[in-house]
Amino acid sequence: VFNHEGKNELDASIMDGMTLNAGGVTGVGDIKNPIRAARLVMEKSPHVLMMGAGASDFASMHGVEIVDSGYFYTEKRWKDLQKQLAREKEDTEKYGTVGCVALDRAGNLAAGTSTGGMTNKRFGRIGDSPIIGAGNYANNSSCAVSGTGHGEYFIRYTVGHDISALMEYRGLTLIEAAREVVQKKLETAGGKGGVICVDKHGNIAMEYNTTGMLRAWGNSRGERNVVIF
Ligand code: ASP
Repeated sequence: VFNHEGKNELDASIMDGMTLNAGGVTGVGDIKNPIRAARLVMEKSPHVLMMGAGASDFASMHGVEIVDSGYFYTEKRWKDLQKQLAREKEDTEKYGTVGCVALDRAGNLAAGTSTGGMTNKRFGRIGDSPIIGAGNYANNSSCAVSGTGHGEYFIRYTVGHDISALMEYRGLTLIEAAREVVQKKLETAGGKGGVICVDKHGNIAMEYNTTGMLRAWGNSRGERNVVIF
């Protein structure tokens, strides 16, 4: 998506549920696949979160592809910005974050989240996607979570970690925990969005309080599904 100045500022993060190691980049405008940079931050640096030019330098040093800003242009998103500039109001139902959660055969969970943030964002605004515990979280003892929605709420309600904590400390199932956070806590607060989650047993929860959420899942039995509403 485009920010208020008509630029793309991308956020991404990744977390390894076995080690609780994590990496993220924020406010980057020229990294082709920010999630790759996030993974490098996790694996090749002692840090968790890098921003802007520094993050790009680090990523390119490690061979990540750097692109011209035009690479991120899409007509649809450009028009979204023009519409919002005309109204000066956020369209709170249109989120476009891409997330992924996975459980491997060894029982390891991982979560990744990547986004352009919210259309018309200003002043270097950072969303929940690169924030570990908010828009992204994985812990082998509970679950992996990736979120999309109004990031400010996901940060304030530490959505990813809260779902995990409800399982760990209150013994809720994955579905109960995801529902509690999305349908009760976020909904009551006025926060719109959704989460995709998988737990250590392979249970899946995809909870949202928006009209729809583009989502898909698959498992080792070969079952595949794609759903919007
Ligand atoms: N959660 C993202 C953010 O607030 C937006 C989205 O999900 O599309 O930056």
